[in-house]
Amino acid sequence: MSEFETVIGLEVHVQLKTRSKLFCDCPVDWGGEPNSRVCPVCLGLPGTLPVLNRKSVELGVRAALALNCRIAPFSQFHRKNYFYPDMAKNYQVSQYDLPLSADGFVEIPREEGSLRVGLARAHLEEDTGKLVHFAAEGFSGVDFNRSGVPLLEIVTRPDLRSPEDAYDYLKVLRNLLRTVEVSDCDMEKGSFRCDANVSLRLSGSEKLGVKTEVKNMNSFRAVERALSYEVSRQAELIRSGGAVVQETRLYDAASQKTFPMRSKEEAHDYRYFPDPDLVPTELDRVWIEEISAALPELPSAKAGRFQRDYELGFYDAGVLTSDPALAEYFETAARACANFKTLSNWITVELMARLKESDTPIESSPVPPEHVSELVGLIDRGVISGKIAKSVFALMCDERKPPSEIVRERGLVQISDESELEKVVEKVIGEHPGPAEDFASGKEKALGFLVGRVMKETRGQANPRLVNEIIRRRLSG
Ligand code: ADP
Ligand code: ZN
Ligand code: MG
Repeated sequence: MSEFETVIGLEVHVQLKTRSKLFCDCPVDWGGEPNSRVCPVCLGLPGTLPVLNRKSVELGVRAALALNCRIAPFSQFHRKNYFYPDMAKNYQVSQYDLPLSADGFVEIPREEGSLRVGLARAHLEEDTGKLVHFAAEGFSGVDFNRSGVPLLEIVTRPDLRSPEDAYDYLKVLRNLLRTVEVSDCDMEKGSFRCDANVSLRLSGSEKLGVKTEVKNMNSFRAVERALSYEVSRQAELIRSGGAVVQETRLYDAASQKTFPMRSKEEAHDYRYFPDPDLVPTELDRVWIEEISAALPELPSAKAGRFQRDYELGFYDAGVLTSDPALAEYFETAARACANFKTLSNWITVELMARLKESDTPIESSPVPPEHVSELVGLIDRGVISGKIAKSVFALMCDERKPPSEIVRERGLVQISDESELEKVVEKVIGEHPGPAEDFASGKEKALGFLVGRVMKETRGQANPRLVNEIIRRRLSG
């Protein structure tokens, strides 16, 4: 047992998939000409009044339901006061003591029993603008396109016990939010951002240690690495007689280290007070029930169904349901395929490796699901060998053609014609009398060599099972 226990809590901001901003009707598209999607409200001009976007609340409720949170019948927006040059009003509209939802949990599926991560709250808030630095020209600009974009902040309890747990939690959370279509959860586009809080305590101790908060990670792996670095930094500090100071630190991906950014502010520094321009939000129970009834099947239920209906193992079902688009891809392919296990392998191993290489999401897969089903059919019917199937699959990715067409065009059909194979076997035996005699005199190992030569002669197209049979027949007795 290690001397310290790691304690982690994560704060995730996701951008809600609305068309317009939280308090005005400016569009929320990504990128674009700076300051082209602004209006007096999201610029915080005097005399303007915010109007709450109903869709943001609906998406917040949808997320809260998927996160097993209690939805507050009555919630309130507060002003969080601080100065930042990209925030025109000098306050951010957020939620404080009356958040939209609280007390939820997320289950991380594990074969030995799932790990439950408590959620303290999930609340609505507006995003700030963005500073753009022109280092060469020596000035900075501010872009308010992002100002007022609706965010949901999801805060865990300090329930995570390792950087790996944190990584798994983020994957499960993203899957949930994407499944209920609340957010794209695209870290690169900033629609999913994570701040990670971490502390150590002596193993067996109940009291939480002093935490640091790490920001600026742009991938789940970066979160995991930043936390691992922070865990060892804190451990060394404590072992050498020092003390962890509560602060916010920035992660630097190049050095994989964290650096101090600022001392941590406390809630009272922000002088929260209810936003007098916004009436409290009262939610109708019936509306919440309607939203709840319209939720799609959640990942855990889907994984269970995949295990039952497709007879897949825990691991395969977990991978296939780790993303809604991937699950849909599999189900489309499965409609035209009888061999689910093999289908699952081609998708989770070959296809996913290929997509990862080119950083392509499954939605833009060069191979449509029907083509994978067809490939599995060709293998199962013995038309092509598993080995040839790999090269066919590579061609399917490059040429975007169905496998049957590729097999036909290149004459890759497996050779199962015995007389044809017998001729090749004769030739190989003639060329390699040594191994042939070895096998005839009982050295089983020599068989592999001979089969290998036949496969080579036929450019991988011989049916290996038949080749085995023919060589045995020819050389034994
Ligand atoms: P703060 O006011 O510093 O933002 P919060 O209480 O709002 O702190 O918690 C922020 C996040 O930090 C939550 O996810 C919480 O679970 C986590 N957290 C709080 N205390 C600790 C701690 N001692 N160690 C690790 N994580 C913590
Ligand atoms: Zn606006
Ligand atoms: Mg906080």
